Amino acid sequence: MSQSDDFTSTSGGLVCSHHHLYSALARGMPAPASTPMSFRQILELIWWRLDTALDLDIIRDSARLGALEALARGCTAIIDHHESPNAIEGSLDVIAEACAEVGIRSVCSYGVTDRHGADGARRGLEENRRFISGGGRGMVGVHAAFTCSDETLESAAGLAADLGVGVHIHVAEGPDDAGAENRIRHLATGDWLLVHGVMLPDGHGLQGTIVHNPRSNMNNSVGYANPARFTNPVALGTDGIGADMLEEFRLAYVAGRSVDVETSPEAAWGWMENGWRLVPESADDKVIWASPEFGPWFQAFSTGTSPLSVEVDGEVLWADGAPTRIDEVEVRTKAAESARRLFARLEEI
Ligand SMILES: [Zn+2]
Repeated sequence: MSQSDDFTSTSGGLVCSHHHLYSALARGMPAPASTPMSFRQILELIWWRLDTALDLDIIRDSARLGALEALARGCTAIIDHHESPNAIEGSLDVIAEACAEVGIRSVCSYGVTDRHGADGARRGLEENRRFISGGGRGMVGVHAAFTCSDETLESAAGLAADLGVGVHIHVAEGPDDAGAENRIRHLATGDWLLVHGVMLPDGHGLQGTIVHNPRSNMNNSVGYANPARFTNPVALGTDGIGADMLEEFRLAYVAGRSVDVETSPEAAWGWMENGWRLVPESADDKVIWASPEFGPWFQAFSTGTSPLSVEVDGEVLWADGAPTRIDEVEVRTKAAESARRLFARLEEI
């Protein structure tokens, strides 16, 4: 997968196996009224305020910025997980179109939850159904078992089976969702994405791919998932903090190394490459890296490796430090305008 001369090497397009493109504008957001003291409070004081403030224009500008920043780091496919309780209908189209405008691949899902009542859950399910049955590339999203009734979990699993796709769900990320495996074990199938798994016991018995997000887990102080202990396939995601997958690989490696000196970077490299099982076409995309070697040992000890060019489906989308299809200044200007509007709204929530 990696050819090289003295200065460059080549790979397929990298895959971010768990992202939240709606959070691309969150950097610089106003601080919450009080400092979060737990994972639950991080959700309540930050992310569950942010998602209620989203409208379709903000989602579009946020997704375009996130897609642009992914492309700039050689990531050509994003598996996104979205929630915007006050702008549900059509939100997945907006995200898919934003990624298509930049030129990268997307797999979209709407995170169903009972946090906004039974009607909110129903509308979330319907957005997944509408988007996927209309030809959109997606999975059925679920926020997490701890914010869903058994009935909602069963409806989501049933919808996914009917549509022939998997479920994309946060699982046992923190203490609030501990024991989630006992509520979804009878539902999960091999095509599910089980995101985080920090609190999962070794023998959890769930089918599906575990998606490890080391930076997010550290940031939320939820502990180390240690995904090497699972027999499931493991992939890598960023949980909304950009889409620099080489950076996430390096963190995944050193996080493993911090608890076991025998940890090799080959394990985390394999997790990054497992993105190609989830979005196989991206393996045929072409990234030329400004680095003589694209492999686990060399990249674990490099920093800031950048692509010289990125090609998706035979089209060069990134060259000479800039996107070819879209105007970067326009994307960033609109994103900044939307961020100001979003932050003003957050001050009122
Ligand atoms: Zn997430």
